[in-house]
Amino acid sequence: MSSHTNELLPWRWSENRQAWTAPNMRVELQVPLGLRSQTRLLRALEYVAGLTRETRFVNVAVQTLGYLSSRLVLGQCSIGVLDMGLSKRLFSNEKYPTTEFMPIMVTTTNLLYVVAHEWGHGSDFRGSLRAATQHGQCPCRLALPVDCTDYRESYAEAFAEWYLSKGRTTNIAARWYAVRNQWRMVW
Ligand SMILES: [Zn+2]
Repeated sequence: MSSHTNELLPWRWSENRQAWTAPNMRVELQVPLGLRSQTRLLRALEYVAGLTRETRFVNVAVQTLGYLSSRLVLGQCSIGVLDMGLSKRLFSNEKYPTTEFMPIMVTTTNLLYVVAHEWGHGSDFRGSLRAATQHGQCPCRLALPVDCTDYRESYAEAFAEWYLSKGRTTNIAARWYAVRNQWRMVW
C-alpha cells in the first residue's frame, strides 16, 4: 500500500458487512452506493494513501451526513486517527456551493479533495496545535479559505492542497504548514 502505483489493492467485498476490506483499509457502506462510485472511492483512497505513504489502518464509512451549524458536512474524521465518514453526496455530480476554495480544487473532484482533507485531520497529531501556538506567524489568513483561528480546519486544508499538488503548490499557507510539519515529498 505504501508503493505509489495506480493498481488497485486486493480488495475483498463482504456482502454481510457491506464493506470492502484490504490489508490496511476498511470501507463500510452504511448507505447504498453504486458500483462505479464504489470504484471511484477505492481509487481515491489508494491515491491519497500512495501520496502520503500512509501505513496506519484506515477506516472509512460512507454515511448520510447532514448539516452542522447550517453548513453542509461532506466528510468528517477523528483527529490523529484515520477513521473517517464520507457523505454519500460526494458521489453525485451536483456542485455544492462553498466559500472554501483552495487552488487545487480547480483540478480535483469533490471526492478526492474531501478524502485528502479528512486524511489531513487523521494525520494531525500536533500540527494544528503547533500552528495554534504560533498564531501571528501563520500566513493562513492570507491564503486559506477557512477561519485562521480554526487551526484544525486550516491544517486539513493545507494538507489537501500540499499533497494533491504533490508539493508544487504556491499557496503560502500550504507551504508554511508543509515545512513545519515536515510533510514528505515521496513522488
Ligand atoms: Zn475539516
